[in-house]
Amino acid sequence: MRLKSIKLAGFKSFVDPTTVNFPSNLAAVVGPNGCGKSNIIDAVRWVMGESSAKNLRGENMTDVIFNGSGNRKPVGQASIELVFDNSDNRIKGEYASFAEISIKRKVSRDGTNMYMLNGTKCRRRDITDIFLGTGLGPRSYSIIEQGMVSRLIESKPEELRIFIEEAAGISKYKERRRDTENR
Ligand code: ATP
Ligand code: MG
Repeated sequence: MRLKSIKLAGFKSFVDPTTVNFPSNLAAVVGPNGCGKSNIIDAVRWVMGESSAKNLRGENMTDVIFNGSGNRKPVGQASIELVFDNSDNRIKGEYASFAEISIKRKVSRDGTNMYMLNGTKCRRRDITDIFLGTGLGPRSYSIIEQGMVSRLIESKPEELRIFIEEAAGISKYKERRRDTENR
């Protein structure tokens, strides 16, 4: 499974609609300090359902919306779309047969969120669900940030277990069991 492209609009410093394509398995984003490199990673995390503003380097969830700059007024909403190549069928279940999976999230100033999966409105839950067990997801090990390796080494056994369970593909079933027990 490979990330093919990301579309950003009104998200942090990306006020104008911008599409970033990743044509091969290896891509590097380079640029001067403050140009928006980390904002792209925040966007990936956010669209996959991140619900902590702190993990997105903000205080409130609406801080991801472009809040104006010297000559530009703030905008009312932010949206991100990721397109994954799923030709290796890493995503199982209902979406397994799709060669491409698109996920989209939109947020407005009043804090309302909207999620879409291959063009159909869905719940946040539906998005987090399809990535369970793939190693992808807002807090999974597919995004390795500065300090994360040492945090892993120093983490408590129960925190480490979460990563191992995701790598082993167990997290999906644990989540389903939790869901059933809560019904
Ligand atoms: P470095 O090389 O220092 O890590 P970077 O390329 O990762 O830099 P980012 O942290 O991605 O840079 O981008 C920071 C920029 O994004 C800052 O200029 C900041 O003002 C801008 N920014 C963040 N949130 C918003 C927002 N909501 N509205 C407008 N601009 C924003
Ligand atoms: Mg950075």
